Amino acid sequence: MSGLYFFKGYPIPLNFMNKEYDYLIIGGGCAGLSLAYRMSMDPFFDSKLILIVEPQTKSQNDRTWSFWSKDQHFYNKWAIKSWKELAFKGKKKATTLNIAPYKYFTIRGIDFYNNTLPQISSCKNIDQIHSKIISISQNEKVIVAKLENGQSIKTKFCFDSRIPESYNIKNSNFVWQHFKGWIVKAEQDYFDDQKALFMDFSIDQHDDTRFFYILPYSKRKALIQLAIFSNKILSSKSYDGLINNYIHQNHPNLKYKILEEEYDKIPMTDYHFSPTAGKNHMFIGTAAGMVKASSGFAFKRIQDHSDFIIDLLKEGRNPIAATKIIANKKYLHLDGTLLHVILSKSETGQEIFTKLMERNKAKNVFDFLDQKSSLGQEIRIMLSLPFFSFLKSFIRVWMKK
Ligand SMILES: Cc1cc2nc3c(=O)[nH]c(=O)nc-3n(C[C@H](O)[C@H](O)[C@H](O)COP(=O)(O)OP(=O)(O)OC[C@H]3O[C@@H](n4cnc5c(N)ncnc54)[C@H](O)[C@@H]3O)c2cc1C
Repeated sequence: MSGLYFFKGYPIPLNFMNKEYDYLIIGGGCAGLSLAYRMSMDPFFDSKLILIVEPQTKSQNDRTWSFWSKDQHFYNKWAIKSWKELAFKGKKKATTLNIAPYKYFTIRGIDFYNNTLPQISSCKNIDQIHSKIISISQNEKVIVAKLENGQSIKTKFCFDSRIPESYNIKNSNFVWQHFKGWIVKAEQDYFDDQKALFMDFSIDQHDDTRFFYILPYSKRKALIQLAIFSNKILSSKSYDGLINNYIHQNHPNLKYKILEEEYDKIPMTDYHFSPTAGKNHMFIGTAAGMVKASSGFAFKRIQDHSDFIIDLLKEGRNPIAATKIIANKKYLHLDGTLLHVILSKSETGQEIFTKLMERNKAKNVFDFLDQKSSLGQEIRIMLSLPFFSFLKSFIRVWMKK
C-alpha cells in the first residue's frame, strides 16, 4: 500500500483524495476481493490505479463457501477440504451421489481473505481504505464517491457490491435462505471425511423447506449446518435447539465441542437486478444477482463473473456485458418457477429436492444449476419433477413479467 495514515485505527492511503482512480471497488467481500485479486495477479492492471473501500478488516471466519467444480481453478487449492462423493438423504432413503467429473469444495472465509488480501496489499497500485461509501455522484468524465467521514474519491469506473437502494422485491418471488451451523470437534475419530452429506431432507419440515448438511473437514472436525427456506427468520437460540436435537437423534454417539458458529441469511429471488447504476458504475456479487435464485449458491458464479469482467476489461470492452452473460434469462425464469412452486406450496421443497436428486444423475443437476445444461438434460430434469405444478408456476412467473 502507498503512504498511509490511520483513521479509527485503520490504514488510509495518504494521498487518495488527490488521485483519480481507474477502478473503485466498493466492498472487499467475496466479489470485491475476487476481482481485486485477479487484477493484482495480472500485469495488464499494473498501470491502473485501483482502490478498495471496505469497512471490515476481514480477520474473522465469517462464512464458509461450498461449490462444485470440474475444472482446475486457482481458488480450489484454498479449500479446507474437497470430496469426490456426496450423500443425499431424501424423505425416505439415503443415496450416494456419483458426482464425477465434479468435486465438491469448501473454502472457509478466513482462508479466502488470508489468501487474497496479502497479495492485493503487496501491489503498489492498489490502495485500500477501511470505511463505507455513503453516496455516489457522476458527471460526464468522473464518478465521485463519498466516504462516511465526508471525504471524496474520484474514479473513472466503479464496481459496487452494495445492494442497491432501489432493490424492490415486491413483484418477484423471494425467500430467505437462513441458516446456522456449528463447526464441531469430536472427542475421537468419528466422521467419514471421504464423503460429505450434501443435503439431509429426512428431517421434519415444519411447513418450510429445510435440510441439514454435514461437511467433514477431517475425521474429527465437521461443519453441521441447518438451512431453512422461509421468510420467518429463527432466533440463533431456536437454531441451537434444532441442531442439538438433530445430532442427538442422528449421531447419538458423537461426543463433541463447538469450535465456531455460523449464523446468517442469503436472499433467494428471481428479481431482475440491474447490472448498472449509471454509466461506468456496475454491480458485482449479490448486488448483481449472482446468488442463484433456486439454491442460494453464489461463490462459483462470482468467480465466473470476475473472470468475464477481467477478460472484457483487457479487450477494452465494457465489463457490464459480463453480468448479462451470467444473468441468463432462461435460467432466471426456471429458477423463478422453482421458487414459485415452493412459495405457493403446490409441492413441498422436500418433495422437489428429493425427486431432483434421486431421479437424476448429479452431473446433470450440477450442469443445470451451473446454467451449462443441454436441452436433453433439461427435459430429463423437468420430467423428473411434478410436471403440472411446474407448468402452472412457469406460466404464472411468465405472466408476472
Ligand atoms: C454465511 C453465508 C454462507 C454462504 N455460503 C455459501 C456457499 O456455501 N456457497 C455459495 O456458493 N454461496 C454461499 N453464500 C452466498 C454468497 O456466496 C455470499 O453471500 C458471498 O459472500 C456474496 O459476495 P458479495 O461480495 O456479494 O458479498 P459479501 O461477501 O458480503 O461482501 C460485500 C462487502 O461489502 C461491504 N460493504 C457493505 N456496504 C458497504 C459500503 N457502504 N461501502 C463499502 N463497503 C460496503 C461489506 O462490509 C462486505 O464486506 C453464503 C452467504 C453467507 C452469508
